[in-house]
Amino acid sequence: MEPLVKIETVNCNKCYACVRICPVKAIQVDASDGYPFVNPDRCIGCGSCIMSCSQGVIVYRSSLEEAKALLDSGEKVLALLSPSISVEFEDVTDYRKFATMLRALGIKYACELSFGVDVIAYKYQLLFSDFKGRYYITSTDPVVVSYVEKYHPSLIGNLAPLLSPMTAGARIARHHYGTELKVMYIGPDISKKDEAMLFDDDRKVDVAITFTELRSLFKHFNIDEANLEFSDFDPPLSYKGALYPLTNGMIQAADMDENLVTTNIVSIEGTDSMKEALLEFEHNIKSIHRHVHVTSGNSLSGPGFSKKSSRLFSERLVIKYANKRLQRFFRIEWYQLLQKYLELDYSRTFTGNDQRLPVPPEERITEILNMLEKSGSDSMNCSACGYASCREFAIDVGRGLTIPEMCISYATKNSMSNMESIRQLNEKLTQTRRLLKETEGNARLQKEAAGQMSELTDAMLEKLRAGVVFIDNKLKIIKANATFSTIIGEEAEEIDAVIPGLVGADLNKLIPQNFINLFSYVLNDNENIESRDINVGENLLNVSIFPIVKGKVVGGIIRDMRAPEVQRTEVINRINDVIDRNLEMVQKIGFLLGEGATDIERMLNSIIEFYKGEKKK
Ligand code: SF4
Ligand code: SF4
Repeated sequence: MEPLVKIETVNCNKCYACVRICPVKAIQVDASDGYPFVNPDRCIGCGSCIMSCSQGVIVYRSSLEEAKALLDSGEKVLALLSPSISVEFEDVTDYRKFATMLRALGIKYACELSFGVDVIAYKYQLLFSDFKGRYYITSTDPVVVSYVEKYHPSLIGNLAPLLSPMTAGARIARHHYGTELKVMYIGPDISKKDEAMLFDDDRKVDVAITFTELRSLFKHFNIDEANLEFSDFDPPLSYKGALYPLTNGMIQAADMDENLVTTNIVSIEGTDSMKEALLEFEHNIKSIHRHVHVTSGNSLSGPGFSKKSSRLFSERLVIKYANKRLQRFFRIEWYQLLQKYLELDYSRTFTGNDQRLPVPPEERITEILNMLEKSGSDSMNCSACGYASCREFAIDVGRGLTIPEMCISYATKNSMSNMESIRQLNEKLTQTRRLLKETEGNARLQKEAAGQMSELTDAMLEKLRAGVVFIDNKLKIIKANATFSTIIGEEAEEIDAVIPGLVGADLNKLIPQNFINLFSYVLNDNENIESRDINVGENLLNVSIFPIVKGKVVGGIIRDMRAPEVQRTEVINRINDVIDRNLEMVQKIGFLLGEGATDIERMLNSIIEFYKGEKKK
């Protein structure tokens, strides 16, 4: 079963009007997201929160589908219509139209709740007049009953042990029309929805709907009073029970003594007055010496009305309706039925459901008051939080029922310090953005420079007659120039045509193992290999390999010794080398052989000159 009241937070603006107005602090604030929620165990169903919410996100449990199902079921349904109907359907021209409209819905018996009020009012008269030293609190309103059970369990013995007019009406109806009857209550208060489920015998109310839901049913079944004729309600008809929505309507219905000098009953209406009155009843009943008739005040302005009307206007509508009803009142018939049904049992019991929470330790309360900056004489007790004093508020903060942010001065200070933090954060953000922009500019320039360098390097690499390759520690080519591919062979050239620079190619698949070993050596030992000749197939290559990033990247310069320009340069280099290294020996030979030595040197020099001349061509 859904809870009676719930908050659909999706459009909640966290104004906390509901938290402030709830008379029993059943609406708590979730500290994690700041949204309010109803604690169903603490809720007494007064509906004040629903009426306080400007966003309309607090809703009561709908009984529309249940009501439609009951009307469609083919069962005999009897409606118990609250006399507050006159406030809701001010637009209906004659009260007799209500009866016809209800029948058009499929309701078999259209009855007034007011006869149940008459009967219960007389039961109260009997109870109060048979005074045996115990003062009573009337139990006609389920909101009051729930409040006593949850927040003043010590007063349960003072709750009048009588059924409400609704459950009494259900019992009377079943005695009048048969036990198989289904009963539908129609009224302005949502607490009846929970009360309807209290009993499973002839007091049972099968569904309780509000006036707003009744309007929806009329709309759903396309019922318009303009198309309908008058008809009267089904018996038993009432007498003054139609005055029930008024503060002292029930007292009047029983013709109880209302003389202020002699009466022993005081009538209280509204949740705040109810709280005060019951607190006083608990502590001072010996001095007050009065029975207390308490109602939540929902009969004229409850959440089950589809619109709000002024108090005086609503009272006038109720009185006008009661007067009209009395014009067709048959006292003898009414009296006979009253006597008959006064014989039934209307007693009931109540069950305590203590929802009071312990008061937190004094140190904790002081700690909270200090946090709120409300200690000692600083306490302002402005009541803007919905509590009578800062201390009461601090107690409920300690109980976890509310949050410190409900205190307006605390929230304002907090929001000012939050705003300062946000301002500082914004400044930092602006500074960071500026730095980021500068860094971005620098990075862009560096990237452009790197791009240019890379292009330049690529161009230079391609111009080199020697093969150049860079490889990583997995022997994958990072970059190679076209000469490298040419030297390595056709397969490398084909790959280079598809993947320029042989980027990512596996060196293992391009060159033989003896060549690979040289790269591996440099990678592992981080040593240069300079001008090493190796045979690769039929080719003689001259190879220099050097580390670039230790153990990670090496470079290689490979020259094909068959290439004419290499041959010439190499021959010159090597002859110079021979001349240098053997000069001394040649001189010695020359010394020994005389002119012969000069001829050898001349011959070698002529070879050098020849190749230099070839190069110039
Ligand atoms: S009154 Fe409505 S909008 Fe305001 S906090 Fe409560 S649920 Fe949210
Ligand atoms: S219905 Fe009444 S008791 Fe329940 S949460 Fe709303 S205001 Fe509080």
